[in-house]
Amino acid sequence: MGLGLLGTPSPDWSEQEARMSVSNYADDLGSAVHYALETTHAIAVCPFHLDLMIRIGDDAAESHAFERARRLVKTDGTTWEGHALRKEFGRQLGRAADRYCPHCALLGDPEYSRAVSAFATAIALVRRALG
Ligand SMILES: [Zn+2]
Repeated sequence: MGLGLLGTPSPDWSEQEARMSVSNYADDLGSAVHYALETTHAIAVCPFHLDLMIRIGDDAAESHAFERARRLVKTDGTTWEGHALRKEFGRQLGRAADRYCPHCALLGDPEYSRAVSAFATAIALVRRALG
């Protein structure tokens, strides 16, 4: 069970978000995988270290992310090939921190984690809105 620390994601919100902005992300393998991981809450980006991804989901979230990435349709009408996707998933998840940002970990109390989660959601929304 992986979602306790950073709060409960909203599936409705992420499904809706997925339909709205897929085309911006689908053409680049790294972006497509990142998009799938973030919208399924398999990972989050630290609001204070924007280049740092944090692995917050469980296996189910990561499988869900993989399925979502496989369904992304590129502008040429094709989808990403499974092997390439698996490799990129491995790369991004391998780079991601486990559960919380190591730079912020010293502050790791539950209240703080909730604040981080809310912040991360807000920042992700802003970043998507800005394209
Ligand atoms: Zn951080």
